[in-house]
Amino acid sequence: MKSPALDYLRVETLSAALDAFAGQGGEAIYLAGGHSVVPSLTLRLQAPSLLIDISRIAELSGIELIDGWLRIGAMTRHAEMISNPLIAAHAPLLSAAAPHVAHPAIRNRGTIGGSLSLADPASEFPAVAIAMRSEIEVVGPQGPRRVSADDFFLGLYETAMAPGEILRSVFVPPVAAGQVVAFDELARRRGDYAMVGAGIQASLEGGRVEDASIAFFAVGSRPTRAASVEAALSGRMLDAVAIKAAQAALADDLEPDDQPNMSAAMRLHLARVLLGRLLGNLGGPTA
Ligand SMILES: Cc1cc2nc3c(=O)[nH]c(=O)nc-3n(C[C@H](O)[C@H](O)[C@H](O)COP(=O)(O)OP(=O)(O)OC[C@H]3O[C@@H](n4cnc5c(N)ncnc54)[C@H](O)[C@@H]3O)c2cc1C
Repeated sequence: MKSPALDYLRVETLSAALDAFAGQGGEAIYLAGGHSVVPSLTLRLQAPSLLIDISRIAELSGIELIDGWLRIGAMTRHAEMISNPLIAAHAPLLSAAAPHVAHPAIRNRGTIGGSLSLADPASEFPAVAIAMRSEIEVVGPQGPRRVSADDFFLGLYETAMAPGEILRSVFVPPVAAGQVVAFDELARRRGDYAMVGAGIQASLEGGRVEDASIAFFAVGSRPTRAASVEAALSGRMLDAVAIKAAQAALADDLEPDDQPNMSAAMRLHLARVLLGRLLGNLGGPTA
């Protein structure tokens, strides 16, 4: 199928993008890497009057350490999560997750801002943003505001962004000395969307879990912080008993639905298996 007829506008500034959106009475959409927008247009899942290309806006680019945070511009491509040394050093969970996102051709175009804005519950980066305790900066007509990743993902393809707001940056607290990370997912084939996945960032003191931050994806309608699992692990030696307790606690955090291709019980089982693997492999310090 072909896309419905629409107008295209490439803008160079945030204010031009916001103005263009405001002039369309809610009938415009932003275009970043296009790897979700373009398929949705050609499948006629949406029919905006105007496509506003934000990919050349300088303010949406850049990766830098600033005021104690790692700022990652919205237009940063998935591939840069793997290749950029600042991200590898300060946000290693992103680097660990990125190779699981689709295939190289998609990672070369898809952007972190597009992935977080889309809020597909099966996507890797929204869960990772939660596990890293990052903050998401959005800009609207009233100026910029920051929302914790925990509060950003509201439901299926639904975020805390108001219509027309633009995601400008992700602010990540750099990993501290002694923090370790682990990421994995279960997919039918490498590159497919996951059946279940999770990212963990934790501080280990002599094998004891001092602080763990764990988020799952592809289980339920949005990425989910595993708060009960975190509580079950807190202050405990990371041994087989603790891992079993964490796996038991997972039922309090996740609410999978019965799907035609998989029952809720099977998805919860897979999530427990994945959690056991991740905790069992929580390796050496990254910083
Ligand atoms: C075959 C295939 C396989 C894929 N597999 C995976 C996978 O395994 N895991 C995964 O996570 N993703 C996967 N994707 C999705 C891919 O990663 C997308 O590119 C990505 O999720 C969206 O990023 P984008 O830059 O392409 O955004 P676009 O497609 O340009 O935009 C996506 C949405 O976000 C909005 N938007 C984009 N940027 C901003 C911004 N800065 N501010 C406000 N709104 C914005 C757009 O208006 C649109 O609604 C796959 C895609 C394809 C085609």
